[in-house]
Amino acid sequence: MADAVEVEQGCLARVRQHFRQELDGLRNAGLFKEERFIHAPQAADIEVEFPAGATPRQVINLCANNYLGLSSHPEVVAAAHAGLEARGYGMSSVRFICGTQDIHRELEQRLTAFLGTEDTLLFPSCMDANAGVFEALLGEQDVMIADRLVHASIVDGMRLSKAMQDTFKHSDMAHLEEKLQEHQDKRFRLIITDGVFSMDGDLARLDDIVALAERYGAMVFVDDSHATGFIGKTGRGTHEQKGVFGKIDIITTTLGKALGGASGGCVSGRAELVEMCRQRARPYLFSNSVPPVIVAGALKVLELISRTTERRDALEENTRCWRRLLTEAGFDIKAGESPIVPVMLYHAKLAQDVARDLFAEGIYVVGFFFPVVPKGQARIRTQLSAAHQKAHLDRAIEAFVKVGRKHDILNKSKKAITERYGL
Ligand SMILES: *Cc1c(COP(=O)(O)O)cnc(C)c1O
Repeated sequence: MADAVEVEQGCLARVRQHFRQELDGLRNAGLFKEERFIHAPQAADIEVEFPAGATPRQVINLCANNYLGLSSHPEVVAAAHAGLEARGYGMSSVRFICGTQDIHRELEQRLTAFLGTEDTLLFPSCMDANAGVFEALLGEQDVMIADRLVHASIVDGMRLSKAMQDTFKHSDMAHLEEKLQEHQDKRFRLIITDGVFSMDGDLARLDDIVALAERYGAMVFVDDSHATGFIGKTGRGTHEQKGVFGKIDIITTTLGKALGGASGGCVSGRAELVEMCRQRARPYLFSNSVPPVIVAGALKVLELISRTTERRDALEENTRCWRRLLTEAGFDIKAGESPIVPVMLYHAKLAQDVARDLFAEGIYVVGFFFPVVPKGQARIRTQLSAAHQKAHLDRAIEAFVKVGRKHDILNKSKKAITERYGL
């Protein structure tokens, strides 16, 4: 008995020792992530406690996926309250046992209409949708051909499928065409891409991708999490913006970003494919239903954004304004049209220092560096929201200029920055 206890303690001691060293390694490499505690609803202005224990201070949020400013919108909150009263708090079941209410199906139908597809299936999250969809639909005779910069959840989902995996260079249509030719012997070919890529904010060339898919007999999969609700003239997504609305075989997207930002995701697309996910997708079969309160909130979000494009129009205007302010101030930004605006700093520590100094100036942004972006591509990713007023952007640019001067990075080329700071 005493021996068993000793062995266990010895084992636990070794495990602790191992992970303490790993964690110290992360800290020493400057890769340790720390949470910042927000003492307020998600919004353009928030109270943030950072570091832990510090008195919370008011800052402008420039790093949320709250693109349409609906995360704390009074009508959405009211609809969620009403949903809570009408349908309760939790489902205590997965969808196919006793976890489907009328409002779950109603939300699926509304999403189908909004996305311009044939049917939709809700998942607990878009990560879960991506974890389930490839395994449910494809087998050994098939191939998945993914853009090399797709979201981590797609990479994980592909791993769970028995289909062959291949990739094409980011947005490189000639390379994709080569791969399609190479895989003509497969039963099904599925081209896989994000609609808007989360780190650079660039849009997939969906018009070209659909044309190639038609030429080589392939299906197209788009994860439109960073687009649904605001990209395209009426905010339907990247397929609307690129003129291929109705032509995407499978769309996955999230309720956790522009569509209220709570949680939940879906697979939407060709009716038979969605139905097969309903029969087979494991996160749908084995994880709990999206709670009624979120379903009710999401229904209100879809009603609001189907009624008027005011919010996505305001976001577009904010995006244009912020891109212009940064460019005029001499920052090096990734060109584009999406509300994801990366400010390039190249050097990991510089990105962290700039983010910390901006926080001290009342601007909440986060530095991104390897492994989230490639080595030597460190940056601060700013994200716009319809909730930002012009005054927010004016205050933000003032702080950016002050911090930019301090680090002497304004009107400096990549070469000049990397020569001084290294990579
Ligand atoms: C955010 C995101 C997800 C994950 O969405 P959740 O609903 O939070 O799981 C999946 N794919 C992409 C491209 C995303 O940006």
